[in-house]
Amino acid sequence: MHNKTLTELAAGLRSKQFSSVELTHAFLARIKQHQSLNSFVTVTEALALQQAQQADQRLASGDSSALTGIPIAQKDIFCTQGVKTTCGSKMLDNFIAPYNATVVDKFNQAGSVLLGKLNMDEFAMGSSNETSFYGATQNPWATDCVPGGSSGGSAAAVAARLAPAVTGTDTGGSIRQPAALCGITGLKPTYGRVSRYGMIAYASSLDQGGPMARSAEDAALLMQVMAGFDPKDSTSVDQSIPDYSASLNDSLQGLKIGLPKQFFSADLDSQMASTIQAAIAEYQKLGAEVVEVSMPTLDLAIPAYYVIASAECSSNLSRYDGVRFGYRCQNPADLTDLYTRSRGEAFGAEVKRRILMGTYALSAGYYDAYYLKAQQVRRLISDDFKRALSEVDVLMGPVTPSPAFKIGEKTGDPIQMYLSDIYTIAINLAGLPALSIPAGFIDQKPVGLQVIGNYFSEAKLLNIGHRYQQVTHWHQQVPKGFE
Ligand code: GLN
Repeated sequence: MHNKTLTELAAGLRSKQFSSVELTHAFLARIKQHQSLNSFVTVTEALALQQAQQADQRLASGDSSALTGIPIAQKDIFCTQGVKTTCGSKMLDNFIAPYNATVVDKFNQAGSVLLGKLNMDEFAMGSSNETSFYGATQNPWATDCVPGGSSGGSAAAVAARLAPAVTGTDTGGSIRQPAALCGITGLKPTYGRVSRYGMIAYASSLDQGGPMARSAEDAALLMQVMAGFDPKDSTSVDQSIPDYSASLNDSLQGLKIGLPKQFFSADLDSQMASTIQAAIAEYQKLGAEVVEVSMPTLDLAIPAYYVIASAECSSNLSRYDGVRFGYRCQNPADLTDLYTRSRGEAFGAEVKRRILMGTYALSAGYYDAYYLKAQQVRRLISDDFKRALSEVDVLMGPVTPSPAFKIGEKTGDPIQMYLSDIYTIAINLAGLPALSIPAGFIDQKPVGLQVIGNYFSEAKLLNIGHRYQQVTHWHQQVPKGFE
């Protein structure tokens, strides 16, 4: 059962090959069997079985949707009512969310089953899942390697077949980068397409939730549930939702692909470059045209991002003060001691580093020099994308500079870690959607291709991903020991 696609699972449930309760038991058993991956922070076994029973009733009565009875798991950044929601932090280790994120509500309405909450970098800050309070997650393709981050638990769970599909969030690459390193498909939607209500904030102007699944076809089904206007999120966009599955098979004849020169510079590893070139050649066979484009501001993305994301996080994370909710230190001497020790004891090193950088960048004497400057650079980057995407339909390039790296390899060098997102971060600054699909292997480790589209072109991106997956088999590979 665990190797079936979402479409196959939905068909199996309808033809009574298996029930949702049986399916849920099967995945719960796999999660137990592969606990050492550390991809889940919480397994909601009792809730899952109860939801599966309800789903079976809905299926029997005919009142069902595509995902009714299908087990999924949520990144532990989405608030789940009555269920621990940690965001990978000691700060929220005791936090039981009093309400559901809109995304969680939508999956509940669709009748899907929640298997549990997935491990992640603390407050989504990281590229390797190593900043999690709950420890590193292993990459199923090479268990001594990272799965990527911050949605590392999400990507590992899908790759290891512990869940058929899951959610992730992407502030600077956190859906696409782990998807690439674990050989799965991840879509970072247009900013505003998926509600951020109840999704714990890291950098609010960049954060966006999206689907992570084995294929573009499966991701389309998740996207159908997740997308849509939400009056509870002021940055949610009121725009109609297309049928994401309807256009999957559209022809790619005449598709104009732009290759940003800056993505393919001498810095790109040669094996990486040839893997990406081979994927692009596949698109040419499907009828696409390829042209080179130049996007000179791409090099500025990492510095601009780390000023903006840190500034926003320093403000967002000020709510964790030991008073209202979350961790509180023992026996505080006075109020200042309560604040400083609660925050000092419960935030990890990376989160503290970002809060300090962000507070500095926002401070009176430095605001213009750093924050304002970074916002101006952000505009230049958006303009660069706007120009490029007026000349071509989509842009393509790598997702990551290398395949999965060893656990511990980059933890001592934050700059090296930040550079893992060099190909993904600019897209968040521009608010654009982008897809990561498996495109090959280097040293038996998966590599991803990134497809960047114009605002609200998610259906087109999924179509582009699906056509490639019809003629390639990368997305069907299963890591050894997880068959
Ligand atoms: N690695 C980037 C960071 O640490 C992006 C993380 C994300 O997308 N949540 O900020």
